[in-house]
Amino acid sequence: MTTPSSGQNASHLNTTSTYELRCRECGKAWGNQPRSICEDCFSPLEVNFDYESIRPLISRDLFASRAPNMWRYRELLPLPAGFEPTLPVGFTPLLHAPRLGARIGSRKLLLKNDAVCLPTLSFKDRVVAVALANARSFGFDTVACSSTGNLANSVAAQAARAGLKAWIFIPSDLEPAKILGTQVFGAELVRINGSYDHVNRLCSQIADEHRWGFVNVNLRPYYAEGSKTVGYEIAEQLGWTLPDNVVVPMAGGSLITKIKKAFDELILLGLVDPKAVRFFGAQAAGCSPISTAVKQCASEIEPQRPNTIARSLAIGNPADGHYAIRAIAQSGGWSEDGSDAEVINHIQLLAETEGIFTETAGGVTVGCARKLIAQDRILPDETTVLCITGNGLKTTDVLSDKYQAEVPIAPKLVEFEAYFSAKAANAPAALEEVAVAG
Ligand SMILES: *Cc1c(COP(=O)(O)O)cnc(C)c1O
Ligand SMILES: [Zn+2]
Repeated sequence: MTTPSSGQNASHLNTTSTYELRCRECGKAWGNQPRSICEDCFSPLEVNFDYESIRPLISRDLFASRAPNMWRYRELLPLPAGFEPTLPVGFTPLLHAPRLGARIGSRKLLLKNDAVCLPTLSFKDRVVAVALANARSFGFDTVACSSTGNLANSVAAQAARAGLKAWIFIPSDLEPAKILGTQVFGAELVRINGSYDHVNRLCSQIADEHRWGFVNVNLRPYYAEGSKTVGYEIAEQLGWTLPDNVVVPMAGGSLITKIKKAFDELILLGLVDPKAVRFFGAQAAGCSPISTAVKQCASEIEPQRPNTIARSLAIGNPADGHYAIRAIAQSGGWSEDGSDAEVINHIQLLAETEGIFTETAGGVTVGCARKLIAQDRILPDETTVLCITGNGLKTTDVLSDKYQAEVPIAPKLVEFEAYFSAKAANAPAALEEVAVAG
């Protein structure tokens, strides 16, 4: 098998591939091509795998024998024949979080830390890696995306590495670090006066006019499968078992459905014992179309106009909202949302208890997990994984009024001792400890 180098050759994949696009509603097969919507019924397409042909090719030992990155699960990803990855994306730490757990009421709390995902410090590196592998084989020389920030960073970086041109479309009010962290890779950055939903609608129109690989428009079915690697890694890192609960931040609603797909696949393939995992969604109160629908027991979302500091999650009309609601409801899970103040408090709580600096989406996740535990929807002795999906260094602007820069002192011991005494005098907690010790 060779790597198809042009769009015309792509149909060649249909006969050799273990996967192809299938309509989620009418079931029609569409082969492998840059397309995300069924022309017959206008429903979304999804990559469908031939698990019977994959089953004999894989095992726990095979995966474990490979390098620690997301490509170790390559048989379960839609990758064109001959694709050779050059970036070790994924396989981020799954950490026990006893100190955070003690504060929010869980004795078996784990953090899946995609704040340190490479190359651009969010879980979006996983989806972009799969999308760009396919962009190449479909013959695109330019990739593009609409983004709430992290996708922009990842497409720009990975396009640079792959030698592809990149056009990135963002709402104009994104965090400065996410804008700079896109421009530095030499991408064309288009700021749009409007919300993400406006940007996304524009991108659908541009995709009809330009032969570009839009990672979250015409390549979206392939892109989405990259999120499954979060689920595979959690299972492998738990010794090939599944947790009781997973808490996932939601923007378009794709990640939560794909972690569920990953667990379902592992059960189907006999790689883990069957287990009913509950899925919990997390959103910001200022943009909560999915969690609002879950709380109202509705099966469809009501679009919202986003107004939140959690800009990476600020999608008012989520493409996978319906499927996210279904995944949550069918699993017996629930969804919560948190105010901007709660988001900031929980960024600080995670940092102070576990040494992880997450972006606003992580503050949403930790804050919502705390509420779900307080509601007894998540019990203290259940194994609960929180998905920390992005890095705090990209959203430092939201903390700018929380910390003051200290007045500098001279490099003299006497100056430090004076500073130290003044600090101690101003720190009530420290004084109390001294009193008890005395
Ligand atoms: C995009 C994003 C999400 C949510 O992803 P969806 O698949 O669109 O629901 C979560 N966290 C961060 C940091 C993101 O950038
Ligand atoms: Zn259809």
